Amino acid sequence: MKSEHHIDDPDVILIGSGIMSATLGAVLKQIDPGLRIQLYEVAEKLAMEASDGWHNAGTGHAGLCELSYTPDYGPDGEVQVGKAIEICNQFEQSLQFWGYAVRNGMLKQPKECINPVPHLSFVYGQEQVDFLRSRHRQMSKHHFFKEMEYTEDRETIRQWAPLILDGRDPDEPVAMTRMPNGTDVNFGALAARLIEWMGQQDGVGYATLHRVTDLTRNASGGWDVEVKNVEAGESFTNSAKFVFVGAGGGSLPLLQKSGIKEAKGFGGFPIGGQWLITKKPELVEQHNAKVYGMSPGAAPTMAVPHLDTRVIDGEKSLLFGPYAAWTTKFLHEKGSLFDLPGSIRLDNIGSLIKVGLGNIPLVRYLIQQGTQSMQTRMGELQRFFPAAKQEDWELIDAGIRVQAIKKEDGDAGIVHFGTEVVTDSERTLSALLGASPGASVSTNIIVEIIKKCFADKLQDAECRERMKSMIPSYDEDLSDASMAMRHEQLNKEALQALQVIAP
Ligand SMILES: Cc1cc2nc3c(=O)[nH]c(=O)nc-3n(C[C@H](O)[C@H](O)[C@H](O)COP(=O)(O)OP(=O)(O)OC[C@H]3O[C@@H](n4cnc5c(N)ncnc54)[C@H](O)[C@@H]3O)c2cc1C
Repeated sequence: MKSEHHIDDPDVILIGSGIMSATLGAVLKQIDPGLRIQLYEVAEKLAMEASDGWHNAGTGHAGLCELSYTPDYGPDGEVQVGKAIEICNQFEQSLQFWGYAVRNGMLKQPKECINPVPHLSFVYGQEQVDFLRSRHRQMSKHHFFKEMEYTEDRETIRQWAPLILDGRDPDEPVAMTRMPNGTDVNFGALAARLIEWMGQQDGVGYATLHRVTDLTRNASGGWDVEVKNVEAGESFTNSAKFVFVGAGGGSLPLLQKSGIKEAKGFGGFPIGGQWLITKKPELVEQHNAKVYGMSPGAAPTMAVPHLDTRVIDGEKSLLFGPYAAWTTKFLHEKGSLFDLPGSIRLDNIGSLIKVGLGNIPLVRYLIQQGTQSMQTRMGELQRFFPAAKQEDWELIDAGIRVQAIKKEDGDAGIVHFGTEVVTDSERTLSALLGASPGASVSTNIIVEIIKKCFADKLQDAECRERMKSMIPSYDEDLSDASMAMRHEQLNKEALQALQVIAP
């Protein structure tokens, strides 16, 4: 797949066709239509890696019901909800951008990319019920979450998510929270549509089956990017003033090749994943929600299981997981078992060893998860859906998250399980490492990159105005109490444009 034109010596080269490159390219082209951009993707099709619909859970992460974002009680004895507020604030920028994309013909069929699916938290046992009650008390005080409902009533839970109670011990204390305007997002479709839109603009090109193999700073201060046309077996060099390494699991090796000093010390820790899925109509029709529970034992936050309605290619299914798995590959489609060993350098080996030694329960958990039987996997699903039957469910691969490992506070080896944008001091190259909370906050990540690396554009009144009409809160804090009405208005406009709520 490729656009009509290939852009030689563009202003910007984007590496990878996932949601991050797609968003950066589309936003940049909107704020400066004169910008020349070329994108390269190694796989055969666009957005087949982590952003692909089946490779992630498609949660529009707004901090609504994922309990892993609010794990702790504060000194006041109430659950602390600051992280959920922060994520919701960032997700609002994504909603605004996607809504703008629909209104301006960049996304023609929003339902292909985003669908309304309520988000629920479900807990059982008195200790968890007390936790959820406190979480709801704190969350519902904030204008982002004022619509959040809480119940311990089994009849209400049955109406919200009947499968959850099917076959459950009637004496067990249970509780649920519900946010009606949650979303299921097909980030792969979203990325592909944005890139296709870009390809129709003057001065933008994209090409799949093109692997970026090297990056070298050139004499004019930009980058020479070595690219291999995988089909033709030929390599060539293209140069750009700015390079975005949005290669997902492939970002770390490219960042290391760039040789920028800011990349020193970074390592990657891949976590594979699998889902159970069912398309059985009787089950799919009974469940319309994304249901989050509490973390089982040593599970890393990104592997806390949930039972999700998915809408992919217009078809509904139920997905449960992820089950984490040990892997040494950085990419699912085009990765190699040598990715992890090949990423070891003198400057990160200390961190990697420390991470291995300091996270033995996590490593043990990953190995145990990867080798468990179907029966054990079903056991985990049955904690959510007690009446689940093995014959209705199939195991499929999820994407791979390469967690960024970096030195923090000078202490090598502290795992930083977040998203990390690494930018050189000249602001000519940015690379995205890490995976959480991921695609949902892609717009916020890209806004920060633009503020840092394209600050000159935002000083231009016209560009700034275009940015403001695309992502109105890019320079505002909607979480502030004084912004409650502004948030309500922007949120409504975006959700209406995306057909998540009725006009
Ligand atoms: C199991 C799982 C569940 C998740 N659930 C959610 C969720 O519910 N909600 C959410 O918001 N996020 C979720 N995420 C995270 C989300 O999927 C990622 O944050 C996001 O998709 C990353 O997008 P990206 O563009 O950085 O990377 P990717 O989508 O992986 O794109 C990178 C692209 O770069 C290409 N590439 C790599 N190397 C090269 C090279 N050398 N040359 C050219 N191309 C190259 C790859 O082929 C790939 O297409 C989940 C992730 C996983 C793994």
